[in-house]
Amino acid sequence: MPSFSEVDTVGVVGAGTMGNGIAQVAATAGYEVVMRDVETEYVDRGLDSVVDSLDRLAERDALDEEPAAIRDRITGTTDLDDLAAADAVIEAVIEDLDVKREVFGDLDAVTDDGVVLATNTSTLSITSVASATERASDVVGLHFMNPVPIMDGVEVVVGEHTADEVVDFAHAFAEDLGKETWEADDKPGFVTNRILMPWINEGIRAYDEGVADMADIDRGMKLGTNVPMGPLELADHIGLDVALDASETLHEELGDRYKPAYLLKRKVEAGDLGKKTGRGFYEYE
Ligand code: NAD
Repeated sequence: MPSFSEVDTVGVVGAGTMGNGIAQVAATAGYEVVMRDVETEYVDRGLDSVVDSLDRLAERDALDEEPAAIRDRITGTTDLDDLAAADAVIEAVIEDLDVKREVFGDLDAVTDDGVVLATNTSTLSITSVASATERASDVVGLHFMNPVPIMDGVEVVVGEHTADEVVDFAHAFAEDLGKETWEADDKPGFVTNRILMPWINEGIRAYDEGVADMADIDRGMKLGTNVPMGPLELADHIGLDVALDASETLHEELGDRYKPAYLLKRKVEAGDLGKKTGRGFYEYE
């Protein structure tokens, strides 16, 4: 296994909200990045998001380099074989166990033995994802927070067969990207989503049951508990489809106290997925 200091090229699978954010922070830290999605359109959209985000950070003097120099370290691709160049890979595809297992089977075939394969899953079992490979000891959870370039924390999740040196690698690598880490065992939702998802669903239920209007639920939680976003705003920010997938996994694994709110399901059925579609609980430009 390469020590994290020997990693030159980072592979990122998925160019969506999380994938492009992870690619951006890895490129900002000086790594070459290969970012793969299934369609050129998704890869290009991910690269555009990186450019916008870097420009915003440059306006605030938050970068040590020109945005273009950082952007140029990211190569977008739809070709799985391009990930063969990676010394470590972070997967950030949709929150679907079958899709992730298929991706990990492919990554196992395409990357060298010992290359760490990390998943950014919010709730799914690291152990199950790892068992789609012949090298479960190389697989670890690296759960970045959204938006990746802004949020300081990364949760390191330890699967049943994750090797100790891979856990050490995960902490050191995330720290090299400028993040602080904490560690969780491979139990549904880990630390963050186990606690966050019922909070979000309870916020949605409170709104649906008329406890207060949306703005007052969000304001009440911000002013009352000193969090930066209320539950409805945060759900829109995460993506209502992502929040529903996470809630359904937790419900299945942990029982009724994790049942997704009815209104969350209805919004997803309506295609109102939050900020990314311009409408969720709130409307966006
Ligand atoms: P997203 O829907 O924005 O992006 C997912 C991307 O994966 C899409 O571009 C899709 O085309 C791509 N994809 C699907 N199958 C693929 C494949 N086989 N190969 C390559 N790309 C593929 O989702 P997201 O919000 O970026 O979430 C990605 C992962 O990160 C999920 O596991 C999610 O649970 C986790 N996560 C999300 C958040 C959040 O706030 N959105 C926070 C932490 C973790």
